[in-house]
Amino acid sequence: MCFTAIVDKVVRQLERLWWAPVEVLVFHAVSDLYDSRRNKRVDWSQTDVFKNHVRLLKSRYRFISLDEAGRRLRRWCPRRERLAVLTCDDGYASVLEVLPFLESERVPVTLFVNPKYLDGVSRREGYAEEPQYMTHDQLWALTSEWVTVGMHGYAHDDATVQTAEEFELSVERCVEALQRHPRYIPFFAYTWGRHTEATQRLLWQKGIVPVGVDGNTNRHYHGMIDRRPMDSHYWNKIWSKMTNER
Ligand SMILES: [Zn+2]
Repeated sequence: MCFTAIVDKVVRQLERLWWAPVEVLVFHAVSDLYDSRRNKRVDWSQTDVFKNHVRLLKSRYRFISLDEAGRRLRRWCPRRERLAVLTCDDGYASVLEVLPFLESERVPVTLFVNPKYLDGVSRREGYAEEPQYMTHDQLWALTSEWVTVGMHGYAHDDATVQTAEEFELSVERCVEALQRHPRYIPFFAYTWGRHTEATQRLLWQKGIVPVGVDGNTNRHYHGMIDRRPMDSHYWNKIWSKMTNER
C-alpha cells in the first residue's frame, strides 16, 4: 500500500470517530406496476415498497435536504446524529405521484433533471415508448419547500466521454435552463456518477457542488458528495451496508 493510500485510510478511520454518517440516497422511477417499455429494472421501485423503505430509513436517520447536508459536511464540529438525504435522478414523471407522500413524511427530496427531456417530446435512447419524463410545466409547478431541483447533465451524457468543451456546454445549458426555478440549487449529479478530475475542477470553478454515486457514505466534504442507489434492485445490499456503518 502506498503512502497516500495509508494516509487516506487513517483519515477515513479518524472521520468515523468524529462524524456520524450522512447517507445520501438516489432513486429513479417509482410506480405501482413495472413497465419494461418505459423503465429499466435497476432504475425502478414499486410504490408501496419504496414507501416502506423511506419509513424504514426514518426509523434510523433524520432526513435533511441536500443543501443542508452540504453545509453540515463542511462543519468541523463533531456530529453524532445519523442523517439521510433523498435524491431522485432523471426526472421521471412517475415520481410526481410520490412527492405528496414524501412531504407528508416530512422528507425533503432533490430532483436531478436533464433539461433536454422537459419538452415532453424528446426521448433518451433505450426507451421505446412514449415520453416518461416530467415536463417543464410540471417541474415549474413544484414550489414546495420540501423539493429542490439540481442538474443531471443536459441530455444524460457520460461526462467521461465528452470533450471538455462538450461537458462545459452541458453544464452551462443546465444552469441556463434551471437557475430561474424557484427551488434550484447549484448541485450537479453526474450521469451514472462518472466524472474526471477535469470535470470536478470545472464544477468547482463555477461554484457547483459535484454529486456522485460510488455507493459510499459521507462523513466530511472532500470536494463532492457521494450517494448510494436505493432502487429496489439495490436495496438489500445497500441497507445491509448502511446498517453496518458506525
Ligand atoms: Zn441518470
